[in-house]
Amino acid sequence: MKFFGDYHIHTTYSDGRSPLEEMVEAASLAGLKELGLADHGPRNLGSGVKSEQVLLHIKDELNLSKEQYPEMKLYAGVEANVVSLMGDLDISREVIKQLDFLIAGLHPYVLPKKLKELPWVLKNNLFNVSSNWVSSGWSRGKSGGKRRIINDNTKALVEAIYRYEIDVISHPGLKMEIDLAETAKACLARDTCWEINTGHQHPGYQEVLEVARWGVNFMVNSDAHFPESVGALDYGSWVLEKAGVPLQQIKNAGEEVTDIL
Ligand SMILES: [Zn+2]
Ligand SMILES: [Zn+2]
Repeated sequence: MKFFGDYHIHTTYSDGRSPLEEMVEAASLAGLKELGLADHGPRNLGSGVKSEQVLLHIKDELNLSKEQYPEMKLYAGVEANVVSLMGDLDISREVIKQLDFLIAGLHPYVLPKKLKELPWVLKNNLFNVSSNWVSSGWSRGKSGGKRRIINDNTKALVEAIYRYEIDVISHPGLKMEIDLAETAKACLARDTCWEINTGHQHPGYQEVLEVARWGVNFMVNSDAHFPESVGALDYGSWVLEKAGVPLQQIKNAGEEVTDIL
């Protein structure tokens, strides 16, 4: 399976290891026809952009690269954080309007906008710690605590999908479990893509199979933080082919560029 674009790339403006020009060069060397930069929103603790204005600066810098790489289409976006149970993102609508595309996702270590959102964020982080460090029955089983966290995560994500024009949900369910059916229904209703994140090799085969049954569209992205990972999308081919997902359901697959953003 061939892919013409990779739309989830980080640079040193957030937690990427290489500057913008090196990531663009890597995309050109990988033969990509389209590239999307999506640094972390500012409320990602320790790894977000300094402020949302940085995203507009990235867009200007990317514009300068366009002359150097006329064969590639370059897009400036963001990987925004869902920061409340009501689905608030950490990017203002004014800035979103000026960007070329919007990725949004759940991340465990985010700074909420309001104090009352702190319990949700803390619960998720405590849960992650407990499931990583202690193989307790509580963390492995679908006990009440875990079920509540899944419900909260799903609510926050689904609210965001309905409130914003989100092009892609990044790594749905990674580190923050969600209800697949509820999220898939929202993505289908809002024409939002489900990301196959090759950097994290997520989601797995069973999840892809289940989400595909709902008719949701997929987008395969690298989540590259290094030049070597730009356009490294083989995991996407493997999992989508194994799950028998038709090409029309994979937005960035194929030799020819189609209008996807
Ligand atoms: Zn992410
Ligand atoms: Zn990312």
